[in-house]
Amino acid sequence: MIDGTGARARLADVRLEGDRIVSLAPGLRPAAGETVVEARGRIVAPGFIDLHNHSDRQLFEMPDAATQTGQGITTLVVGVDGGGPLPIGEFLARLDAAPVTVNVATMVGHGKVRTKVMGEDFKRPARPAEIAAMRALVAQGMEEGAFGLSSGLEYDPGYYSTTDELVALAEVAARRGGFYATHIRNEADETLRALAEAMEIGWRARIPVHISHLKLGTVGVWGKTAEALRILHDAARENDVTADWYPYNFWASTTYVLTPSRDFEDRQTWVRALRDVGGPQNVLITDFPKDHSYDDKTLAAVAASKGQDPADVLMDIVRRGNADILGTSMSEADVAAFLRDPLVMVASDGGIQIAHPRGAGTYPRVLGRYARERREVTLATAIKKMTGMPARRLGLADRGLLREGMKADVVVFDPRTVVDRSTATDPQARPAGIEHVFVNGVAVVEAGRPTGARPGRVLRSLPRNVGHGQPLDRPPAHEMRGEDLVEVARPHARVPDVVGVDGQRDPAAAMLQAARPADDDPVSQPALLDHPLQRVEDLLGPLLPAGSLGVAGRAHVEAHEDMALGLGHRPILSE
Ligand SMILES: [Zn+2]
Repeated sequence: MIDGTGARARLADVRLEGDRIVSLAPGLRPAAGETVVEARGRIVAPGFIDLHNHSDRQLFEMPDAATQTGQGITTLVVGVDGGGPLPIGEFLARLDAAPVTVNVATMVGHGKVRTKVMGEDFKRPARPAEIAAMRALVAQGMEEGAFGLSSGLEYDPGYYSTTDELVALAEVAARRGGFYATHIRNEADETLRALAEAMEIGWRARIPVHISHLKLGTVGVWGKTAEALRILHDAARENDVTADWYPYNFWASTTYVLTPSRDFEDRQTWVRALRDVGGPQNVLITDFPKDHSYDDKTLAAVAASKGQDPADVLMDIVRRGNADILGTSMSEADVAAFLRDPLVMVASDGGIQIAHPRGAGTYPRVLGRYARERREVTLATAIKKMTGMPARRLGLADRGLLREGMKADVVVFDPRTVVDRSTATDPQARPAGIEHVFVNGVAVVEAGRPTGARPGRVLRSLPRNVGHGQPLDRPPAHEMRGEDLVEVARPHARVPDVVGVDGQRDPAAAMLQAARPADDDPVSQPALLDHPLQRVEDLLGPLLPAGSLGVAGRAHVEAHEDMALGLGHRPILSE
């Protein structure tokens, strides 16, 4: 067994009883009537926890989720990229009433919240009253069990949101113990700036930051893994920062994301977009609703067959309403380098039925190709990135590890044969080597076949009111983590003084001030007025010129670890 902590494999028998793991030890003897699964030569591991999954609607249409359990996923998180269900409570209640195969958790999608408040009039910054309304919706989602706030800043309507808007909403999720998961504003030439913006949001909103599907998606940033990871690691010294990643060098999205520009009539932007992905042969059209004869062809092939320039074909597609595409635009060396980083875990960015093979193959692909064949990481590290790490990110105390007393989400696979078989043309093909999967102690895959059982449960975040004066179940101070202590009780209007927003100070201050009442519930008011982090900001604010903490030129702020956790009063150094 490999327990999900990163510890090496050891020999043990695993006994499940009801929905729990009850014992783990070598030489257990079966009791009368017990079912025995022979796992000699196999690996027994915790079920895989997928932090980035697009199955939210499909769960109701295909509750067996066979492509998910087939690759060993036992818990999936939806509501990602700013999308997903809303209201959260309604969605979760529906799943309570009609359980599916896997456990399901959700985020509150920023884009969904923004659409609900702004409707079709979203191509502009939100007004103060709109931000207040969005904050109320985020608060509601968190109360109803969401694990945090997600954003998708390359997509409508998230694209049009300002950093300040995101900070204002993330603060609300932070107060309730959530984290901020983000599909950053740009995964192409501006990736580094976009990562820095995410770190800034985390720092300002006092919320853990999780980068979704970390990648370097254009020729212009290939090879910059060290720079990207440095941004994460620097921020991780003063905040809780993690990322997830999928094991493919091509992405699935829409023609819109090829260019950061929103001027779709500017031909140069499309010419450049095609150069950025290495040429039109690297763009595979998977679904063009206006003309399905394009489907499963590369943009180069469609252009050749029409005798047109690829950029013109692309502009025509966008004018006629967008197409789903696969873009081969990552360097394999970068992909592997991200996997090796200790802040990075595995997630599929998939779903029950999607056009990308990661929807069925992510986990076996990591185990078979990246761990066994290429030895980019050890098997135990790969498993940790699929189980213990995502469980910790979510704050799940009873899943993600093989331990006595934990929920019995368990995968049994053959480490010699496990591998993905899904491809761009057969994206749902079942992998090899995933033999048995248990969710809450019930077999959902048996000898490689789905059983049809639906033992999945809804997972709700623990109701935590971070910054609450006297939380009922507050852990002792020395056991608290940064996010337990990150309430900021100072007036929001002072935020621009600390972080700098260039020429926008007054509007930003007004906006944040106006946004206050939405969650100024008296319960969360007292607390932490003399909190060390507030002192940090009081000290720091006057030292830094306005704008110096902006995305482009953020000053380097070094805090001792204790200080970042709010546990000490050590000096802050800035340069
Ligand atoms: Zn995304």
